[in-house]
Amino acid sequence: MSPRPDLGPKPHLGYTASLIDRAAHRRLDAKALAEDTRAGAYVVGGEMIITRKRDGGGDPLFGIDAAGALATAQESVFLGLADGVPRFGVGIGKDAAETLKARNDLLITDLRTIAVQGLVAPEHLPPLAEAKAMLHWHARHRFCSNCGAASMLVEAGWRRDCPACKATHFPRTDPVVIMLAIDGDRCLLGRQTRFVKGMWSCLAGFVEPGETIEEAVRRETREEAGITCGQVRYFATQPWPFPMSLMIGCHAEALTTDIAVDRSELEDARWFDREEAALMLLRRHPVKLGTPPAVAIAYHIIRAFVEEGAAVLGRA
Ligand SMILES: [Zn+2]
Repeated sequence: MSPRPDLGPKPHLGYTASLIDRAAHRRLDAKALAEDTRAGAYVVGGEMIITRKRDGGGDPLFGIDAAGALATAQESVFLGLADGVPRFGVGIGKDAAETLKARNDLLITDLRTIAVQGLVAPEHLPPLAEAKAMLHWHARHRFCSNCGAASMLVEAGWRRDCPACKATHFPRTDPVVIMLAIDGDRCLLGRQTRFVKGMWSCLAGFVEPGETIEEAVRRETREEAGITCGQVRYFATQPWPFPMSLMIGCHAEALTTDIAVDRSELEDARWFDREEAALMLLRRHPVKLGTPPAVAIAYHIIRAFVEEGAAVLGRA
């Protein structure tokens, strides 16, 4: 049981716990898999997900023929098997998605909105994240980064080969550290200018080449807020398909307390005590400050601190 029952049951972390078996050994049979009459496809156009309107939300899973009838596919990737049934991600491009918005039977919106508003059944979020990240990678990697020739999609989307220089290219995911620095009973939150009014969150940044996760946590916290951190403790990870990141959640022990905000990165940063952070999680803050929604890992990182205090760093 949570040490803070007022926070309610722990919500599910979005885009995680996929029910898809990626079945990598089947990637050479993509054609046969697509001919399975039970196969289903998620259709993605840039940031937009195409769904059929249903019960105030949308059903994002189309039959292969129905997906093909929506628009011409630019790319198709094999996501894996759901209960033995093949699932694909089909990319139709941004313009085709815009055109489809004229149809009354479809609900077309971006994946963040779908996740935050719960517009599709939760089990669809992980494969939608997989499809969106993969299709984004293909859309940005049509040409060989070694020699510039047009490359070809192979292995059902899990590799691109260059026919000119024979280089092989694999889909990638970008590691991002997202962390909460802790000073006793206080935690450090920041605001980016693009955040909705009143929202404060963990600091975050890309892991740089040649850096460990712990080093990235310390560097980003120092660069963005001027705080030096010592011990770093891993919390959890979350696929974050905007466009293709892996969020690596951590708690970090602050060794200093004087904040110096890098205004090119953040609008502001300050310390919040546990009770104030609790009110933000509960949406009961007196001046309506809040955290990101429960679909995002930031909510869970902050909540773990509210529940456990500095013990979340692993020290008694
Ligand atoms: Zn090449």
